[in-house]
Amino acid sequence: MLIEPHLEGSGRESRRSGWIEVICGSMFSGKTEELIRRLNRAVIAGQKVEIFKPAIEKRYHDKNVVSHNDRSIRSTPVQFADDVVLLAGESQVVGIDEAQFFDSEIVNVSIALANKGKRVILAGLDMDFMGKPFGSMPQLMAVAEFVTKIHAICMNCGDVASYSYRTSLGKEKIMLGEKEAYEARCRKCFWEAMGNDKK
Ligand SMILES: [Zn+2]
Repeated sequence: MLIEPHLEGSGRESRRSGWIEVICGSMFSGKTEELIRRLNRAVIAGQKVEIFKPAIEKRYHDKNVVSHNDRSIRSTPVQFADDVVLLAGESQVVGIDEAQFFDSEIVNVSIALANKGKRVILAGLDMDFMGKPFGSMPQLMAVAEFVTKIHAICMNCGDVASYSYRTSLGKEKIMLGEKEAYEARCRKCFWEAMGNDKK
């Protein structure tokens, strides 16, 4: 788990550096719950928090970051990564959910916000349903100070799961109603099933 950086008491507020945190993992690993946990703690501490998600992500309520256990925080859907810079305003903490769906500018946007002294927390899928790195997640993980990779439980065997296995047909990376379409799988169960699918 992340040991959150020293947040106060330096007496040099204006010179405090920002940083980037990435929370990644497969579906059903609790990424959004972890994002919400960190953001809630910042809210409780009286920090100004803004939360964004790609406008493409409309599975649940339009204005909320909603995790699968129904704990939610209000968020702003944005079309382009650049919009985040404009909308972040004076916030001290910027949360970004479903980061894998943003355009590649999300990397420069995250760097720019952190360089302005903000704490940037991104949550996203590190791999797609083919087991390949997803969107800008590899670049985000590279430029982040802190990367937390969390895991689900394999729905096939109960082992530690890092993969999102698609149980239904179709090759688009974006698909609504994920709970019916995907399973968390361990390495063995994922790649065995992928091999079988090709036969
Ligand atoms: Zn398994």
